[in-house]
Amino acid sequence: MPMSRSFKDSLFKKLPEIAEHYGTPFHIYDEAGIRETGNRIKEAFAKIPEFREYFAVKALPNPAILTLMKTMGFGFDCSSVAELILSRRAGCSGGDIMFTSNNTSREEFQAAAADGGCILNLDDISLIAKVPRMPELICFRYNPGPLRTGNSIIGNPVEAKYGVSHSQIVDAYRLAKERGAIQFGIHTMLASNELNYTYMVQTARTLLELVEYIQKELGITFRFINIGGGLGIPYQPGVAPLDLEALGREVTDLFSAFNRRNGYTPALYMESGRFMTGPHGVLIVRAINRKDIYRTYIGVDGCMTSLMRPALYGAYHHIEVLGKEGEQPSELVDVVGSLCENNDKFAIQRPLPPIAENDLLIIQDSGAHGHAMGFNYNGRLRPKELLLNVDGSVELIRRAETEEDYFATLQFAPDTLITGE
Ligand SMILES: *Cc1c(COP(=O)(O)O)cnc(C)c1O
Repeated sequence: MPMSRSFKDSLFKKLPEIAEHYGTPFHIYDEAGIRETGNRIKEAFAKIPEFREYFAVKALPNPAILTLMKTMGFGFDCSSVAELILSRRAGCSGGDIMFTSNNTSREEFQAAAADGGCILNLDDISLIAKVPRMPELICFRYNPGPLRTGNSIIGNPVEAKYGVSHSQIVDAYRLAKERGAIQFGIHTMLASNELNYTYMVQTARTLLELVEYIQKELGITFRFINIGGGLGIPYQPGVAPLDLEALGREVTDLFSAFNRRNGYTPALYMESGRFMTGPHGVLIVRAINRKDIYRTYIGVDGCMTSLMRPALYGAYHHIEVLGKEGEQPSELVDVVGSLCENNDKFAIQRPLPPIAENDLLIIQDSGAHGHAMGFNYNGRLRPKELLLNVDGSVELIRRAETEEDYFATLQFAPDTLITGE
């Protein structure tokens, strides 16, 4: 099931009061659930001498969430200057941060090196010459190309824009070494929202084999391998979750075998976003209109600017109506926002119980790539974010955007360039 029993039990009874106090729409995240998943991840890989999760900041870039991740001992995976700043404000630097950029700019290299630095995860062989100062520890993103098929969201690696190709990978490490790097890591991310755990086992195997090949060529050893994010969550009821424990066991076996062959064990890094927070957030909206034309539309007070996955990927997000959780669905409806864009729908032809005006709808699994993907099309504003703490209290962790925020970048004073003839 999309939402855990315990999240439901603690949230649903408080929801009318929370909605009344803060006003809808809002995302609300479950601290207890995030901690539980964090502990499960640590437990699953506990037999590998060094394991660390680097939470993918882009999934839920909120300081309260990053602080929570830090208390669990996690680092952060960043791919923009803003994400670096957020991670550093959460108290991280150096080896706590992976900077996995793509098409990296000079400004990004500067930001990566500033304020205590981070682990640079380079995306291309041409960037070695562009790193202002080669750090002691360097990582490359690997793109296996035709040696591996990607899953549906990531697509075919041959068409994917990230990473160093197979034929360039040894040279990449050789060049980095010549420029002064002395410690090495390797990264790849070949799947997204993948529920089949064997996919990640295969990724770990691919990287460990590659490490053996590179170290033979260059006489170096590897400090870590990073198998990326991409662990899936079941968005639809009845879909089996990813078997994290089996993933942990099989990857641990690969690491033990690697140790027997090579006499050392690199660290294992992972950078999950969705798996860490996805199921532990929901978007709460209120029904404000009902419209019966060729179909029945339930209009709610949030729209796709608060959660664009349904519009972007046709993604399913489970919806429940507060107080009617046990009821049989009575009609097929489209649950829609107010954007002038016909794909502004949270659900299409979904069987739901009868919905009345003012009913609260719980749109589930919004905890990753939810609020974060928000935008302002049509002058729509991003909603607030709340955190349901372990002690039962609720905290506003981001206010809603205002029209003033929306107008903040508009240029009212003239700033004109008269171009020369
Ligand atoms: C997006 C991303 C992640 C997180 O992906 P999830 O599917 O949320 O686990 C991790 N690493 C990199 C490099 C990414 O781009």
